Amino acid sequence: MKTIVMLSGGLDSSIVLALAAKNGLGPIAVHYNLPFGLYGDKENFRSSAKGITERLGVPLKEVFLGEDFIEMIKAPAHGRGKNFNPCIDCRIFNFRNAKKIMSDEGASFIMTGEVLGQRPMSQHKQALRMIEEGAGLEGLILRPLSARRLPVTIPEKEGWVGKELLLDIHGRGRKRQMELAEKLGVRDYPMPAGGCLMTDKGFSRRIKDLAGFKPDFSVEDASFLSIGRHFRISPVFKMVAGRNKGENEKLLEMARPGDIIFNIENVPGSLGVGRGEPKEEDIRLGAAIIGHYSDIDPDSEHPVLCKRHGDSGGERVTVVPASEKELSAVRI
Ligand code: SF4
Repeated sequence: MKTIVMLSGGLDSSIVLALAAKNGLGPIAVHYNLPFGLYGDKENFRSSAKGITERLGVPLKEVFLGEDFIEMIKAPAHGRGKNFNPCIDCRIFNFRNAKKIMSDEGASFIMTGEVLGQRPMSQHKQALRMIEEGAGLEGLILRPLSARRLPVTIPEKEGWVGKELLLDIHGRGRKRQMELAEKLGVRDYPMPAGGCLMTDKGFSRRIKDLAGFKPDFSVEDASFLSIGRHFRISPVFKMVAGRNKGENEKLLEMARPGDIIFNIENVPGSLGVGRGEPKEEDIRLGAAIIGHYSDIDPDSEHPVLCKRHGDSGGERVTVVPASEKELSAVRI
């Protein structure tokens, strides 16, 4: 017997993976990485997914979602939740992908840590059914944590899973899952903040800005969205400023030839990466923003080195750091 377990690395899916492993269901864990860069929480979930599969001796398949995922989020057929999150289409997309892995691996069904009523858009009965149908997986998705509250699935009918695996948890509480985690020895999992970055208000503003000004945006554009402070300087020019040394280095790594790098040399502070077609005044504003986030006198002029990534030389633009008012006019 082989099963696919969709593993975010959080509490619920980690419990399901442990249940599957301990009950001899031959789980193969599948972990999805969204194309918005791997920082903060996402990195924690990823290492937690790696950690638990290693502890249980379960194979892990990491899927890095790419351009086809980006195309899906641009125009989701089932709409969005409160923010940019297209949960129904996203789940259908990921289940279709898992279905392919299931068939490649010769697995019989898919298990998830979904809990009925835990998330408003994608975890009520009608949505679960719609997602299953959309992915062509009717009866083949077992959600053990809420199984007793859901229609009977093929694995249950066929007797592939025992009753001890079928629970009746529902809603947003985590108490029962925590007790189960304790029993199963599942620990060190990050607590979810209620969804991915697309459910976050601030991130949604950024991605809406990107989709509005660059409707044909790519994975490469999207990967910038989870890092730094973002400024819409003109309809065709945007700048991201690092919030600390780590982000400055990451931004520099992610910059591509032709991007404009803003840097105040020899002073601790923010590094900026601008992308698009800036006019001279856009470069000046970008430089002034970088001045604002650097350790310099806010009332006097300073040179900021601005150069195309990959070019040598560049130009020193002398500016007074931007005021709060100037920043809020362009902050995304
Ligand atoms: S919260 Fe994010 S990752 Fe989860 S289903 Fe919704 S859009 Fe997809």
